[in-house]
Amino acid sequence: FDQRDGFIWMDGALVPWTDAKLHVLSHGLHYGSCVFEGERAYGGKIFKSSEHSERFRTSAQLLDFEIPYSAAELDAIKQKVVDANHLQNCYVRPVAWRGSEMMAVAAQNSTIHVAVAVWDWPSMFDIETKMKGIKLDIADYKRPDPATAPCRAKAAGLYMICTISKHRAERRGYADAMMLDWQGRVAECTGANIFFVAGGVIHTPIADCFLDGITRRTVIDLARRRGVEVTERRIMPEELTAFEECFICGTGAEVTPVAEIGPYRFTPAALSRALIDDYSAEVQPKQKAA
Ligand code: PMP
Repeated sequence: FDQRDGFIWMDGALVPWTDAKLHVLSHGLHYGSCVFEGERAYGGKIFKSSEHSERFRTSAQLLDFEIPYSAAELDAIKQKVVDANHLQNCYVRPVAWRGSEMMAVAAQNSTIHVAVAVWDWPSMFDIETKMKGIKLDIADYKRPDPATAPCRAKAAGLYMICTISKHRAERRGYADAMMLDWQGRVAECTGANIFFVAGGVIHTPIADCFLDGITRRTVIDLARRRGVEVTERRIMPEELTAFEECFICGTGAEVTPVAEIGPYRFTPAALSRALIDDYSAEVQPKQKAA
């Protein structure tokens, strides 16, 4: 991934892709003082850019550091990187980390570095393939208790258990893994939130110990705009037998139906398809009135 054409913005300037390097003694690498974002541009415009910029700044504050750019400045930087790389439909990856001045747990005076990279990332499947639904494993690792980790931050360190769980799922023939929370309730996937449908009502776990995705909130709004009831509640894995449809959502996954989770089976149907369509219409850049 480090040998490509294009430009990455790093600490104030666009640099050629292959020159965007950092020192091996970076605190972010050793001690996990690193936060990031995952966004998508559609038609050259980043969807909900300012929400992502705000979350990026909040994630850093939860890890006890301050990103040295305002949300508006970050929005402008991200757009500049998309434009400089001449991309229309792409993934946008801001990342911030503590630098290499202090190699110990305490690193109060280290420099805060910020970079933004973008790369081509079209939606993975056509609608018919998507409607077959993906298969999810059930992860062994649980989302940590809010008293154990800053679980609302999109922090690199919180992804350690996601990578382990996703690798295990892939080895076992699944696309991803559903993770439970520290109390054994359904939480989310390794990089996406999860929704269920029963009798025309959407059920989704309360985002109190995992990432409250920007896509999750968008999908809740879209469903309510359709007049569909959405209930956020505690969901136990044994309850999954009661649901007819299931889908996951996130910036990368967009809205992706699920056919299996461990022993549970679902049939992607009308509501999943409607929300896929609503989401793909919603992310298109709005035409400004003349
Ligand atoms: N949960 C996790 C663990 C994630 O990595 C993501 C993707 N950022 C999400 C949920 C969905 O968040 P969003 O909709 O903001 O992309």
